[in-house]
Amino acid sequence: MRAILLGAPGAGKGTQAEDIRQHYGCAHISTGDMLRANLKAGTELGKKAKTFMDSGALVPDDVIIGMIEERLSEPDCAKGFLLDGFPRTVPQAEALDELLDKMSRPLDAVLLFDVDDEIVVSRLTNRRTCGKCGKITNLLTHQGENCDCGGTLQQRDDDKEEVIRKRLSVYHTQTAPLIDWYEVKKILRRFDGTRDRIDIFNDVKAMFPE
Ligand code: AMP
Repeated sequence: MRAILLGAPGAGKGTQAEDIRQHYGCAHISTGDMLRANLKAGTELGKKAKTFMDSGALVPDDVIIGMIEERLSEPDCAKGFLLDGFPRTVPQAEALDELLDKMSRPLDAVLLFDVDDEIVVSRLTNRRTCGKCGKITNLLTHQGENCDCGGTLQQRDDDKEEVIRKRLSVYHTQTAPLIDWYEVKKILRRFDGTRDRIDIFNDVKAMFPE
């Protein structure tokens, strides 16, 4: 499957990506994860991205497009790819169209996960990542102070309420126009992102039989 996962931060794109990746064997490409890995490794790209990410703003298009171009040429994308957090602007979507045209690898679908802003704020302020195994948990459902593996639960710097609200506003102004963009191309599929993870995944499987 070659698809874009679209939706506000906290809409469940990463969670669905995990299930879809395992089922269809395609690569999961999260631009947020790639940027955080660069930040951690102290690369030039990471340094460039840091101030934007800390404030909840978008990293400039040229940085992101270059990163995606390289990533899509890697061998694990041969069976398909799930773009999670990309594209986030119309110029990114245009660049992606051009790139996929050049590669003769058109998109199968854009999966949109709809979730109200207040649910997003509640989900993200309670989201934690294990410092040891990297698993993401949510305090709304998780029992105990630590991760199941014993690791310490950490909060992403940009999961503080003030930054979340900025990220949501950026989503509505810069990313939401992509909904119409892909609707016109007739490849947009909508999902209620507040439903159970398994129910959403079952709908995805029914829509895209292997
Ligand atoms: P995410 O983990 O997808 O919520 O991304 C975290 C942060 O990384 C965002 O708030 C942006 O600062 C940056 N980022 C991730 N993907 C993109 C993108 N496609 N374009 C611009 N900035 C991005």
